[in-house]
Parts: sequence; structure tokens; C-alpha cells
Amino acid sequence: MRKILGIDLGGTSAKVGIVNQFGELETSFVVKNDKDNLLENLAMKTINKVEELGYNYDIDIERIGFACPGFINHEKGIVVLSGNLNLENFDIKTTIKKLFKKQEVHVLNDVNAAALGEYWIGAASRYSSGLFYWLGTGIGGAIVSENKLVSGEHGFAGEFGHGGKMQTLYKCNCGLDYCIERTCSAVSFGKTFMKLLKDNNLTSISKLFDKPNDITMEDIARVYKANNKPQEIRALIEEIYQPLFNHMAIMIQALDPALIVIGGGGSGMGTDLLEIIEENVKPLIVKIIRDEITFDLASLGNNSGIVGAAYYSINNWDY
Ligand SMILES: [Zn+2]
Repeated sequence: MRKILGIDLGGTSAKVGIVNQFGELETSFVVKNDKDNLLENLAMKTINKVEELGYNYDIDIERIGFACPGFINHEKGIVVLSGNLNLENFDIKTTIKKLFKKQEVHVLNDVNAAALGEYWIGAASRYSSGLFYWLGTGIGGAIVSENKLVSGEHGFAGEFGHGGKMQTLYKCNCGLDYCIERTCSAVSFGKTFMKLLKDNNLTSISKLFDKPNDITMEDIARVYKANNKPQEIRALIEEIYQPLFNHMAIMIQALDPALIVIGGGGSGMGTDLLEIIEENVKPLIVKIIRDEITFDLASLGNNSGIVGAAYYSINNWDY
């Protein structure tokens, strides 16, 4: 049985895995990025490592699914814009074919890949339609509708983090002023939380944190749980996430998914977060949908991108 190489390239390293046709991840490893020689380095180290692990790269590896951050034209395999990778209008598919010496290469956005991984063997595997919110450095999204990844006209569907007037505290580095990811992403959340503590002089809450001037999403999750879910902290979390709740409600009404999957670093708050999201989003959607919808956490952790990229590759969704 021939295998698929799933690669999930991020800003500092790439996660690489060998996946079989059933979605089983046989092995995985990480290749650190070489800034000056990004893809050459990745190809060389990946091929060497695959051989080292006992595979015959030429024979065993049939195809490559390649996920990377940014605006990706899936059909052409072009990175139209990726701030994280510092690439613009770059034909990554042709480059990968050459460097990795494989003809079957399929490229897609990293959050779309993560969503497909969850759809194939993870949290969404029992459903045909789902929305995926990835709360990480930014906010990524993906839409699977009726067993199909929705890519849109240009391959850019799922950019849930941008657009609209969602908040007025911070400008976004995409060029717009009011994007949701500047206050609600995992990285931005702590900053927004600290601003609200300061602006509202909430010293009783500040005191619960070891370093009130350096609060992260993880700190908030930990303190919230350790103090038996104080109402004051919950109110702040709800205030910050209100645009996210609105976004989810509108998307649910628009697309009628069976479930919402939350992933990324922001989902580290676990079931406490799910509870807050569910209780806040459900009153914003009509009853017949409200009674049917499920909210869940991503279940594959860091491997969802590798597995989803492999899935995308064997299903040829860009032809
Ligand atoms: Zn933006």
C-alpha cells in the first residue's frame, strides 16, 4: 500500500507525517524552518528522514498533501499571500514537485487542512457539514458543506478572522481596522483581557493572576478553572468573544452545519470554553437549528493539518 506525505508548514517549523489511505498517521516528525532556504531545506531533510525511518521514498510515497498559512489558490497551487512565510504570488506547487521529486502534489491553506483532518478521522468524522474555527495566532476558519470543502472562487474561503466591524480596540495587520482576530485570537485574547481589566479598574480580578501585566490565554483558562469559574472572569471572556459568538451565529444561519469545531491554541480552555460558546451562541440562532447543532473541540491536536493535507491529496479536490 502506498503512502501519502502530509506536510503542514508553519511560520517556524513544518510538521511532516506519513499517512495511509485510512487516515492513520504512521509516523510524524518536525523540520525546523531554514529562513534563507525554506523549501530546499524542508525537502532535503524530509526525504532523508523518511528513508531513515525505513521507508523507500521513491516507491512508498505516492503523493504529497501540502498545507501552508495564508491566502492559497488551491487549484493552481500558488501562495497568493502569506505574511507568516513572507511569500507573495509564489508557485509553491511547481517548486515542491521539483524539490520533492513527486508529480502528485496538492496544496491548500493550513486551517482548511486541519478542518479536513478533523472531518476525516477527528471530531467531525460523523458529520457531512461543519464549520471550523481555529483560534491561534490569528483566527482561521474552514467550511465543509455536504462532504465538500468550500474553497470559494479564488480558494480563499474560510478567512473568518477578517472583515466587518467586529471590534474597535485594535487595527488589523491585514489593512482593515476592525477585524475579529485582533481581539479574539488566542494570541490577542490575553492582550484584550488586560486592556479591559485596566480600563475598568478591575483590581479584584487582576489579583488572581501572578503577573497581571503579562496575562496569556493559558493563564486565563487556568485561573478561571482554579477559582471555580468566577462570574467576573466569565463576563470578561464573554465581552471579548461577543463578536465571535455573533460571527458563529450568522455562519450557522447561513450554512446550516451539523457542528462547530473549535481548534488551535485558544481551544486549550477546553470544555469550559465550549460551555461558554454554546451558551452564548445558541440564543442567537433560531430554535429549529439550535436544537440540532453540536459544538465540539478539535481532537487531533497538532496532527490535524498533516492528516487533512493527506486527505485533500488523495481526494484530488483541486481538479
Ligand atoms: Zn484583518
